[in-house]
Amino acid sequence: MIPSNRLPGLAHHPRVHLGHHPTPIDELARLGEELGITLWAKRDDCNGLAFGGNKVRQLEYYLGPAAEAGADTMLITGALQSNFVRLAVASANKLGMQSEVQLEERVPDTDPLYRSSGNILLDQLLGATIHYFPEGENEAAADASLDAHADRLRQEGRKPHVIHLGIDHPPIGAMGYAAAAAECLDQLEAMGQMPDVVVIPSGSAITHCGFLAGARVAGWDIPILGVCVRRGADVQHGRVARRAREAVQMLGSDVEIPDDDVIVTDDVLAPGYGRMNDAVAEAIRLAAQREALMLDPVYTGRTMAGLIHMVRSGEIKPGAKVLFIHTGGGPALFAYQDKMAASLAELSSVSKQ
Ligand SMILES: *Cc1c(COP(=O)(O)O)cnc(C)c1O
Repeated sequence: MIPSNRLPGLAHHPRVHLGHHPTPIDELARLGEELGITLWAKRDDCNGLAFGGNKVRQLEYYLGPAAEAGADTMLITGALQSNFVRLAVASANKLGMQSEVQLEERVPDTDPLYRSSGNILLDQLLGATIHYFPEGENEAAADASLDAHADRLRQEGRKPHVIHLGIDHPPIGAMGYAAAAAECLDQLEAMGQMPDVVVIPSGSAITHCGFLAGARVAGWDIPILGVCVRRGADVQHGRVARRAREAVQMLGSDVEIPDDDVIVTDDVLAPGYGRMNDAVAEAIRLAAQREALMLDPVYTGRTMAGLIHMVRSGEIKPGAKVLFIHTGGGPALFAYQDKMAASLAELSSVSKQ
């Protein structure tokens, strides 16, 4: 498929190619039937790089300037089980750069698997130099620590490139999700299908704001429902709105994003970021058993749990056509092995009663 040129402003942002795009849109017929809706999944978990995921599209734009500047080392900070960190290291390998990563203690979890398996195992396998940072909710301090490290590398004669994810830096990665929105529109038009709503995870908000900005700049007015995976809806709403407006500007457009165009729900967020609940466990199990679709406890399982909750509450109407954005994250399943096994045992004892 030849991509249409719905977002000419994207061409001003340097980009490297890291993933297989376009990713497929699959119908999830069995799960949709069970929920009483028509359900499709945009398979960004299938974009090819080191188990894939949404950060591949973001990194294509974060690392465009690094490649242009001839950087030799990539630096990034993230949670212990960060998919972003794993994929940034993978990308650096593909581009011939070294990686220095800072892992933040964001989830109160002393489970040895959480601290060694899943993405941490992959970071090690990919050859990253790993540093630890004791706080998980202080973006500014984490960024400052990373910048100080980059300064030390500069003094050693290296050419570091820091991937800044803090709110005070431009949402460069959102360009990847603006492109994804345009890609979806191309595909849906070719399929002769048009969903009523998009359901997407809302974490740092880069994915959500990029998709929203890209859709609106391309003239696609579909409601985009963000499921909060990290912060409560009040805080997240402001974050997505701010980021989406910044992303629109970066696309060279003056389209308005009114406050009520930013939709976020935190109904399935408790007890907090990266922590399982029954709705998430049920969503992961349902997707696996009806569709052989692998979701994870931190992001995609929670997003599917939010989708199911909105169907059951009537917020998504019976018979609606829903596009679920699958953002990857599968490797984290192995870091949550014991909790997942316990939830499965509990769910099966409930369903036998
Ligand atoms: C990071 C991540 C998200 C959230 O994306 P943001 O751009 O941070 O909002 C969703 N799903 C997966 C698998 C992720 O790794």
